[in-house]
Amino acid sequence: MTQKAQGPYEDAKNQLKKAQEILGFSDADYDLLAIPRRERSVAIPVKRDDGTREVLHGYRVQHNLSRGPAKGGIRFAKQVDIDEVRALAMWMSWKCALLSLPYGGAKGGVRIDPSQYSQAELERVTRRFTAEILPIIGPEKDVPAPDVGTNEQTMAWLMDTYSQSVGYTVPGACTGKPVELGGSLGRAESTSLGVFLMVKAALQKLGVNIEGATATVQGFGKVGRGAAKFMEQAGIKVVAISDVYGAIRNDEGIDVKALGEHVDATGKVVDFPGASAMDPEDVLMLDVDVVVPAAIEGVIREDNAKNIKAPIIVEAANGPTTSDADEILNKEGKLIVPDILANSGGVLVSYYEWVQSRDNFFWDIERVQNEQSRRMLAAWEEVDEYATEKDVTLRVAATALAVDRVLHAHKLRGLYP
Ligand code: NAD
Repeated sequence: MTQKAQGPYEDAKNQLKKAQEILGFSDADYDLLAIPRRERSVAIPVKRDDGTREVLHGYRVQHNLSRGPAKGGIRFAKQVDIDEVRALAMWMSWKCALLSLPYGGAKGGVRIDPSQYSQAELERVTRRFTAEILPIIGPEKDVPAPDVGTNEQTMAWLMDTYSQSVGYTVPGACTGKPVELGGSLGRAESTSLGVFLMVKAALQKLGVNIEGATATVQGFGKVGRGAAKFMEQAGIKVVAISDVYGAIRNDEGIDVKALGEHVDATGKVVDFPGASAMDPEDVLMLDVDVVVPAAIEGVIREDNAKNIKAPIIVEAANGPTTSDADEILNKEGKLIVPDILANSGGVLVSYYEWVQSRDNFFWDIERVQNEQSRRMLAAWEEVDEYATEKDVTLRVAATALAVDRVLHAHKLRGLYP
């Protein structure tokens, strides 16, 4: 028996196959959409603070460029490899098309455990990686942003390295920058706000009261922390939260602000005085209304999908559900708000940041958040209606809508030469 191919890129291609079944495009078009347009694999030699040297691996993949410059984050994490970056780049193409943004999709990554490096070392890694991918990035070509293990500071270094190379300041070279350097108000919490809007929409769809609903969150980073905060503010009880080190539980609801202060001080959710320890594997398995995976891909798998009790899964992370798990959950009638919709608030406000950076005209927070809500809720309605009309899941509907737009752009432009 041949081994079944596995991993996020296989999951992404399986989703594309499902879109092909609905849209009925040719196998040649499938290949066009499945194979990234451009990939750059680089070595990143770095000097450590103790004077020793080592070489890291980095990647930038531009999956599709038919609708505009490529757009997508840069990840610093231990497990980064080319297939992970390919999958994440493909999901970016669909996400941008689903939100009707004038972008293609890209992603970058460096295989590194950032917790083991000093700030000075991370600056050297960022600058050298940026220099290695410099020929293919830029405001008209490919616009990076933060992702797992990177942040506003990483983007400030990237923007500076890019700007030094061309001789003038280019704020549009990346998004997710500090506000002082042309970042957008509301960008830092935009992914989390969008996740919360989708949690609310899903609860309303199933007729569950928002006030008093219960939720759990896996991952307490840039996305998970904000999502937990917005849910708590709306009266949703967040009863369990995990990070890479462990998990905590309080059935009365975790005080998210106090937990944030604890994490700022200690770096971990464990040992938070306002909750008890629990097995991190069980965070997504509790009997609550909503579970929010907000860490990494592949955490809901064939072997644990059956244990999920919540009727709603809102995918804050990219690719948290494998294809096998997706089938199991769909058979059980779970409502899954797919990643390309649920976490699209980040790239949406990145788009607003790019527009503001290029215009040198900056919006107030109300305008940013109103524009975000309006556009994300319209996307939710569109996906929900399409799913009902075609009798498919929200994931299949969202992917098909997005893929159709990318393919249409490609057909309008025609094939070169
Ligand atoms: P982050 O690095 O800020 O936080 C990641 C969090 O997940 C940390 O709390 C970490 O401890 C935890 N974590 C890592 N591995 C874990 C594991 N195995 N189990 C439990 N927790 C684990 O990253 P982020 O920016 O919050 O990104 C989280 C997810 O959201 C990723 O899938 C990312 O691609 C996606 N995403 C992020 C953005 C954004 O704007 N930052 C936008 C769209 C999607």
